[in-house]
Amino acid sequence: MQHEDLVFVATCDLAGLVRGKAFPASDLDDRLRRGVGFTHSNLMMSAFGPIYATPFGTVGDLMLVPDPSVQVQVPFDDGPSERFYLGDLKTIDGAYWECCPRHFLRRALGALQAATGLTIRAAFEQEFVYTGVDDRPGSTYALDLMRRQSGFGEALMAAIRLAGATPDSFLPEYGPRQFEMTVKPAAALRAADDAVIMREMARAVAFRLGHRAILSPMLHPNGIGNGTHIHFSLCDLAGKPVTLDPAAPYGLAAIAGQFAAGVLHHLPALAAVTAPSVASYMRLRPDRWAPTWCNLGERDRGASLRVSPVFAPTGTDDAAAQFNLEYRVCDAAASPYMALGALVNAGLHGITHGVTLPPPSPRNFWDMSEDERTEAGVRRLPESLPVALDALAATAEAKDWFGGPFLDAYLMFKRSEIAAVSGLDEEAVCARYAEVY
Ligand code: GLU
Ligand code: MG
Repeated sequence: MQHEDLVFVATCDLAGLVRGKAFPASDLDDRLRRGVGFTHSNLMMSAFGPIYATPFGTVGDLMLVPDPSVQVQVPFDDGPSERFYLGDLKTIDGAYWECCPRHFLRRALGALQAATGLTIRAAFEQEFVYTGVDDRPGSTYALDLMRRQSGFGEALMAAIRLAGATPDSFLPEYGPRQFEMTVKPAAALRAADDAVIMREMARAVAFRLGHRAILSPMLHPNGIGNGTHIHFSLCDLAGKPVTLDPAAPYGLAAIAGQFAAGVLHHLPALAAVTAPSVASYMRLRPDRWAPTWCNLGERDRGASLRVSPVFAPTGTDDAAAQFNLEYRVCDAAASPYMALGALVNAGLHGITHGVTLPPPSPRNFWDMSEDERTEAGVRRLPESLPVALDALAATAEAKDWFGGPFLDAYLMFKRSEIAAVSGLDEEAVCARYAEVY
């Protein structure tokens, strides 16, 4: 049998899934210029495949154009290489399409830069379940689980590096058969590209080994969730970090504090973008090391926004470079472009409106009763996707972040996903998402 080398070009779409089209490698130069054909309604492919509802109908043409800087070529021992580009959705005139998920992030970063002269560095952590090991008691963080995953992690880290991201760590996580992979920080757009690549490499390596990396937020309603944690910091255009002020509350320089306050302010709406599946809200429940309140916590893994620790002496450049915030209300149903873009928009709102954080409380947040937390002005996170979507729809600023047509399309898209699983019990909902993610 003869084989022709194919190259795939993809976007990570509104369902957080990586989709696109392949072309013969011999056409690469032409395709790098032109892209491949796409239509507006292709953005409305649901998590489960079919297009349930679309404002765009059957008419119209777009191009999915590879970004030459995001090229992945990873050989495997047998069978074809992983060969793809990530790219942008453009109109046939060559302008970015207003609903392109990757461009949503680029636009947010442009707005941040125009208003403040600053940009974002970020790094994604991704938790997932690897099906190539059996579930044994006592495996949490265990060397024994590391041993039994038997080469998967090593192959994954190599694949991530070959694919152009820089691996940071791989660990046996808290839940049954659960692992976590992390890449090093990068400039925001590249960090989101790296997150997409990292997820795909986990799927690719597991597939070659005859197994799956399941990234779905919850595999069982009472299980342990798979979070996507987004570490981020502000820096100037020369790359100088500006997030840390050791003398300020929480160690956050004034502008970083406003950014964080903007994120907290918009958290219920942000959840609709960053925790965007029906199963996502089974993860955001008490006692799962996942957030449940719209709060900031210093080195608190139960908080929505965690002030991360610094492993360097105060006042050093190392401390300033390391210091970051971790956004924990995210999972793999979210496109990294949409999640980070939404975060940047909310943070920028905090800066432009001078929103401030509450002063650090002398009390441990978890020692307070629910009423005391509410009295202190802290809200619960939305407890379901419909509630989060209503919060997004009610957020006046969201029209500017997305643009009206994109916001309407996003809400329609997610509401049709809810309808697709309505009537299923929680276990069946988890099973449905675990088939896909
Ligand atoms: N699995 C937890 C989550 O769903 C996080 C555990 C951790 O802190 O690493 O976010
Ligand atoms: Mg973790």
